[in-house]
Amino acid sequence: KKYGMVIDLHQCVGCGACALACKNENNTRTRDEGQSYNWADFLMKTEGSFPNVKSTTIPVLCNHCTNAFCVEACPVTPKAMFKADDNTTLHNQGRCIGCRLCQEACPYSQFELAEGSFKGESYSVISFNFHGRETQPMWSDGKELIPGCTASGAESAQKAGATPPAMNQYESGDYQPVRRSGVVEKCIFCHHRITHGLLPACVEACPAQARLFGDLNDPASAPALTLKKHQASVLLEEEGTEPNVFYVREYGVKG
Ligand code: SF4
Ligand code: SF4
Ligand code: SF4
Repeated sequence: KKYGMVIDLHQCVGCGACALACKNENNTRTRDEGQSYNWADFLMKTEGSFPNVKSTTIPVLCNHCTNAFCVEACPVTPKAMFKADDNTTLHNQGRCIGCRLCQEACPYSQFELAEGSFKGESYSVISFNFHGRETQPMWSDGKELIPGCTASGAESAQKAGATPPAMNQYESGDYQPVRRSGVVEKCIFCHHRITHGLLPACVEACPAQARLFGDLNDPASAPALTLKKHQASVLLEEEGTEPNVFYVREYGVKG
């Protein structure tokens, strides 16, 4: 198997449902300490001036590269950042020493947003966890979200049967159920879901079916069929990472 994703930019409306679904599924923290924790993030660009304005939104995530520089750079044995047999780039928190060499090596973790609300910031393919168990503090916060009107995060977590730290209970020995501080974290293509026949959370949540996920080696899979139909591009092709997240139907390109 070779898992990969195709993102159809004509279908994507930039709604952000993928990013929210990812946060919900993986309990990633909101933005602080000078970095975001968006495993499913965006590149956003606005060009021109009114009335001739062009706005571009490109969903970005770990490219699960065939030639993964992050894995190459990881100094521990066995590697904390590693490739699974299905091509997914996984991370083992227990083995990670938090040196951040993977972040330095990943060309997509140093990508700067040229414009938009996060101008000048890198998007976070790999994030460094400064906070550990309390990854998303909202679920232990007793304050009503809207005073006198809604439940608090803690109440919602309790009603849903979640016990703090309200983490997703990953079931593989390859990755840990509860993330800890002082190590990195990143998108794992929702490995805990795909190994149970489910789609990654971002793919399932997309209302426009802009994200197609599956086995690139299977000619009948949704991404393989789309790649046959449309010309595709990848981010920073010149780096030689051989990404497995592809983009089709870029703005201004017919086909
Ligand atoms: Fe685009 Fe789909 Fe994400 Fe919305 S959920 S931003 S349409 S990829
Ligand atoms: Fe590694 Fe970065 Fe490629 Fe993801 S995008 S596999 S973190 S080099
Ligand atoms: Fe490996 Fe962890 Fe260092 Fe990254 S931060 S290179 S995963 S030990």
